This record gives sequence, C-alpha cells and structure tokens, in this order.
Amino acid sequence: MRSIFSLPTIPFRTAAALLAFIVAANASAQQAAPPTQAPAQAPAEAPANEESRRGVVPHRQQTEHDPRIDTDTGRMLATWRPSTGFDHKHMRLELDFPDLNAPKLKGKESLTVIPIGRPRDRIRLDGQGMVIHSVKVSGRPAKFDYNGRELVVHFSDPIPPGTATPILIDYEVDFGSNRGQGLTWSAGKADADNPTDQASAIHSQGEASDNSRWFLCHDFPNEKLTTELIVTAEDGFEVSSNGRLVSRQSAGKGRTRWHWLQDKPHANYLVTLIIGKLSIIELGGPDSARPGLSIPVYTTIGTEDTARRLYKNTPAMIAYFEKLLDEPYPWDRYAQLIVRDFIWGGMENTAATTMTRGSLYGDDGSQDGLIAHELGHQWFGDLLTCKGWENLWLNEGWASYCEALWEEEDAGSDPDARRRAYLRTVKGWLASQLGRNSSYAPDYPALGSNLVTNELENMAKPDDVYAKGALLIHMLRMRLGDDVFFAGTRLYLDRFKFQHVTTDDFRRCMEEVSGQSLERFFDQWAMRPGLARLNIAYGFDAGSQELKITVDQTQRVDALNPAYAFSLPFFVRYADGPGEYLYLDMDTTHAQESFPVRERPISIAIDPRVEVMAGHNVTKDLEPPEGLGE
Ligand SMILES: [Zn+2]
Repeated sequence: MRSIFSLPTIPFRTAAALLAFIVAANASAQQAAPPTQAPAQAPAEAPANEESRRGVVPHRQQTEHDPRIDTDTGRMLATWRPSTGFDHKHMRLELDFPDLNAPKLKGKESLTVIPIGRPRDRIRLDGQGMVIHSVKVSGRPAKFDYNGRELVVHFSDPIPPGTATPILIDYEVDFGSNRGQGLTWSAGKADADNPTDQASAIHSQGEASDNSRWFLCHDFPNEKLTTELIVTAEDGFEVSSNGRLVSRQSAGKGRTRWHWLQDKPHANYLVTLIIGKLSIIELGGPDSARPGLSIPVYTTIGTEDTARRLYKNTPAMIAYFEKLLDEPYPWDRYAQLIVRDFIWGGMENTAATTMTRGSLYGDDGSQDGLIAHELGHQWFGDLLTCKGWENLWLNEGWASYCEALWEEEDAGSDPDARRRAYLRTVKGWLASQLGRNSSYAPDYPALGSNLVTNELENMAKPDDVYAKGALLIHMLRMRLGDDVFFAGTRLYLDRFKFQHVTTDDFRRCMEEVSGQSLERFFDQWAMRPGLARLNIAYGFDAGSQELKITVDQTQRVDALNPAYAFSLPFFVRYADGPGEYLYLDMDTTHAQESFPVRERPISIAIDPRVEVMAGHNVTKDLEPPEGLGE
C-alpha cells in the first residue's frame, strides 16, 4: 500500500490525519452496521487480545508511567498474532449484485478449512456488519452465533485434525456506509463528462482488516489460501479480481457472470473486487519488454492515451525485477486498475493492483515510483507476506526499496548516473526520517516492534515502515556489497515464497549468505525506535599530517536507548590525486580518532552513500584549516 502523498516528504501530521479519518470512518461504519439476527455472545475461542486487536486506541502519548503496560490492569500494550486453529485452504465466493445503483450484495461463501492440532468443535471467522442467513458444515445446517463483528460456527461433532471441512455461509451486506474500507460504492453522476463516472462503481480495500466487511475470513495476514470469485452484475461493466479470468458468461436478464480464480495461495487482505465502466489497455504482448504476461491497465474511459503514457514502463519494470530478484513474476497477470474515490495511492492486491486517479497526472515517468512500489509488493507482501502487522516494514520497506531499484535501472548504463539516481531516493528517505523521527524507547514503537495498541499504528508510526524500512535495506546493501546482498535477497524470496515472514527470517537469510552476525544491526535499527544524531568536528594538523575527527551522538542515550554502534565513513578529497574513505568506528556517545592523511584535504563528505542512518551537525570546532569544508 502507498499513500496518495509522495512518501519521502509525507508530514507526520498528514499521515496522522489520514489515520484519524480512517479510524473515524471505521467507528461510524461500525455504528451503522445493520442489526443482526443472532444474540451477541462472546465466542469461547476468541483470543484474549481480541479487544485490543479490534479496538481503536489513539496513538500512545508520553506519560510518566511506562507506556508499555496499562497501569490500571498491568496488561501489556502490544498486538499479537491471533491463532487460526485451522488451515484455511480455499474460498469460493459467489457474489450477486442485484442492482449496481445500490450498495448491496448477496453472498454465498464456501470456505474449506482443516483443523490443526486437536479436534475442533467450532470455528471463529471475522465478518463485519453482515446479515447471516444460514450456515452449513459439510452440507448440513449448523448452529452459529453472530455479533456483528465475528461469526462462530458450531460443529455438531468435533472435527479431527486433517479433515477438510467445507463451510457454506449464506449472507448479505449493505456496504453503503463504508468509505475506503471493505467495499466502497461510488454513485453514478449523471452530469459527469465521461461514461465511467456517469455509472456506479465499486472497489475494495482490504488492508489492514477490512475485507471482512464483505466476506467471512480470518482477517489477519498470518493465513494464506486460494480464492475464487464468481460475480454476477449487470452487463456493460468490467469486473476484476485476483488471478485469471476463467469464464465470462451471460447470466440472462441483461446480466453477466464473471469467474476469477486465484489458484496460488495469498492472504485475505489481498483479495480484490473492482466493478466499473472502465476502459482496458494492454501493455503486454510479444513486442513488450515482458512478453507472455498480460499487463492490462483499467482506466477511465477517455484517458487511455494518458494511462498508456504514464504506465508504459511497467513491462520493463517487471522484466528487471524478475532478473534482479531471480524470481519470476508470481501471478497469472499484472493488472493495474485506476479507480475513483480511492483514498490510497495504490494497493498491491495480488495480480491486480488498485491505483488512485491521481496517477493519471504528471509528466512521463512521474508515476514510476508508485508503479514500482506496488509492483515490488507482488513479491514483497504478496508472495512473501508479513506474518503480523508488526512485520509490515518487510512489505513496505521492500516495496519502497523497489522504487530506488527502478530509479537506478532507469538511469541507464552509466554507473555514476545509476548511483546518483539511486542515492537521490535513499537521501529522500533519510531526510524524511530526520524530519519526523525523534523517537526513543519506551515511549515510541520501533520499526519492527509489536508494542502498539492498534494495528493501524504500524502504518503511521514515526519509525516509518516505508522510509526507515527502505533505509535499513539500503544500509544492508552498503554493508554486505551488491553480490552478497542480492544473494541474500534471492535466498529470502526463494525460501519463503507463498509463506509468511518475520524480521528474524530476513535477518537469518542475510546472515547465511554473508557469514556476518547481524543481530546487533537489526536490534538497533529495526527493534529500537529513532535514529542517530551526530555532532561532528574535524581539523587538519599540519605538523603530524593527521586529520582529527570527533563525533558525538546527541540523540537521547539512556538504559533503553544506548549509543548506536556503527562505522561512519568520511570521503576525503585532495587537491591532487584520488580521494579516499576513512572510517570512524564507534559504539559510545563520544569518539575521536586521528587519521594519517597524505596532505591537507580540500573537502570532506560525511557518509555520502548513507551507510549509517544518522543526521549530521558539523560543528568544526577543531580549528578547521582554511578551505576545509563539507
Ligand atoms: Zn506499499
């Protein structure tokens, strides 16, 4: 997922406002949920943390108490992955939209699950604001409880582990109050200047836990299954979902039945449905940079030329990422669907990314960052999925990093031009983090920490999963070198495809290929909030022919925030001859070192390749010689 704002410069307040908007919409949508037939009853197997997972809690404020626990109860304020108890194998979802001028659907869902560990006498599924008509288990009517948020289906006899069990749920949903969560319905506007907007439209948005507003599921990323959607709607509309189109047939009475199949497992939050009067252009084909893959763009009727111009690099990006990652594009097609009323910039639904209308504006190449980000997610997020939302940085950091990878490739074959283009994006992330991240433990959650009270916090914490996540990946590349870094990346993709990943999974792959212990690196950059802030002073001693460098870490340092350990590079230039790198190693708040140099330097560049996530304040209080500057 990516914001509608350019992420390297997104102000925290804007992100927080967006979050507040989503939270408010969430709350109002829940209030507006239709009455349900079953009495509210807490399901016996609901995890104890269910309230904290579902609840809406404002971003944690600094208090005199330890913010990691609730002072009244002693409860740890953290989010934990919920248990499934079942292997979810396949969902066949039949949806009927009787009239696209109204935000209503009738659903028949067949979910096949297999108990894990011990015989199970019930299953709990997320399902928000629905009316449940009936439930069958293995073809026989079953008892159920539904409280407007979750459905508990009771089995007549406990079902042993390993037994594939089909659960059929007949339900309906009025999704008119949803905006940006689950299904969003856009009414047709008679006075619009194009046929797309004159008609109604529907789009989905699942991340984080909103697809359970239109189908029953384990609405958390730690479960994967194959899915198929069979959707009946009136003629004249395009209907798109994940995977490939199996069939498209007349359903009679001016209606069409669309059958989409995603036969490789993915997470429930990546299930998508788009309905609209849209025009389709095809960027794939035998002459494209990626022959053999369908690469359609669905766009507003009348904007085909614009979409073709702004999305034209997509096939080349796919081909480049496949080569670089040594992992074929995983899905049956790569569709990008530009829809209206979409509150995000892009959402990486499996094989079918949803895009903002804003992507139809700008000069050639101006949308490449967004396109590369969402495409990168097809590997990092969709093929490998964060196991819990505290691992979201593995999705978003990598997708953001793919933006820089494309910048590098798009710069051509000149190594200097490639490096400049790549580092421009990297420095944007650093500037963004320096501007908004003065976090420290324990008051702020770290990049990969689960010390948040609501999963939405993971998307807007100052330890930004986008910018800081991508910076961490960049620093690994600098530390390990290209060959080892990309070997580790390929190992990570190959080992965990179609599975779930944690920070440790990624670290261990990088350790395996490099022979390095990276625990300290990940501990301080992923599991501790904030970044380093440095006062730097240097001067040249003509007598000893030494360059003396002093560095002080000025960010908060205490028992929970020890000094960072790193090797800070200085690139020193001389009047004649090549320059050289000098490295100052430190794991203390203060370090000083004198480096023998061959002559008075004419300039010093501090960490020009961003090898350390740090801000620099050059004090030059060591009597810098004339002409010595940054
Ligand atoms: Zn993203």
